[in-house]
Amino acid sequence: MADVAADGATPVLQITDLHAAPAGGGDDILTGVSLTVGPGEVHAVMGPNGSGKSTLASVLLGSPEYSVTGGTVKFLGDDIAEWGADMRGAAGMFLAFQYPQTIPGVSVLNFLRQALSARKGIDLSMLELRLSIMEWMERLGIDPAFADRHLNDGFSGGEKKRNEVLQMAILEPELAVLDETDSGLDIDALRTVASGVREVRQDRPELGILVITHYQRLLDELNPDTVHLLVDGRVARTGGPELARKLEAEGYAEWMAPA
Ligand code: ADP
Ligand code: MG
Repeated sequence: MADVAADGATPVLQITDLHAAPAGGGDDILTGVSLTVGPGEVHAVMGPNGSGKSTLASVLLGSPEYSVTGGTVKFLGDDIAEWGADMRGAAGMFLAFQYPQTIPGVSVLNFLRQALSARKGIDLSMLELRLSIMEWMERLGIDPAFADRHLNDGFSGGEKKRNEVLQMAILEPELAVLDETDSGLDIDALRTVASGVREVRQDRPELGILVITHYQRLLDELNPDTVHLLVDGRVARTGGPELARKLEAEGYAEWMAPA
């Protein structure tokens, strides 16, 4: 049964006391994560290295690398505990940034076609797809020749991000989880992500976004509604944009267990 927020809208994502451990066994990495992303909201998850940010993204998308050991995750009101990664993707959960794959011999266009088939169950011809993505490539400032490049093969940081934002635009997710790589984004990539996300949100005002980062710069561009601080696998603090600025200025020391 769907939980309904005070304003009547079903949250896009509702995580309650989530615990997760490596599938192979071991202690919990996530030790009690709770957060709720409403329609159209941008939430940021910040936290020091090793606090569990990427694990959270992987668990949300159903990675077999982890087992959920407690708590619940609801997507648009449905408990998704039994959903595999494919089903989550097909239902409109989208993960970007953390795994920039190079797939030899697969063009950007071909990859999008397969991904769209998995998401929407529609098989477009290459011509149809080319037409339908042309508008997006123009909006995102992508050279049309990009569609025929091989996936991530020799892409610059900015091109990788452009490709991911293009995927997000074409796949029309309900929830996008953006997990910034630990090496961060260069200025070109950052602008690409920020402007791409703004464009996609214009078309999809209900899209919920969970952006995982330890940098303020991306948040300056994306203006999150809510910021969550993850420490030792749990949400230690939730606040507004001022929390991100405080963490940027003061670091995480205050929140870490004394050595
Ligand atoms: P973050 O993205 O916040 O830097 P991670 O989620 O990558 O942190 O990792 C959190 C902690 O869990 C780290 O100590 C990491 O070594 C550990 N960890 C992550 N994945 C696994 C795994 N598959 N098996 C064992 N330990 C893991
Ligand atoms: Mg990480």
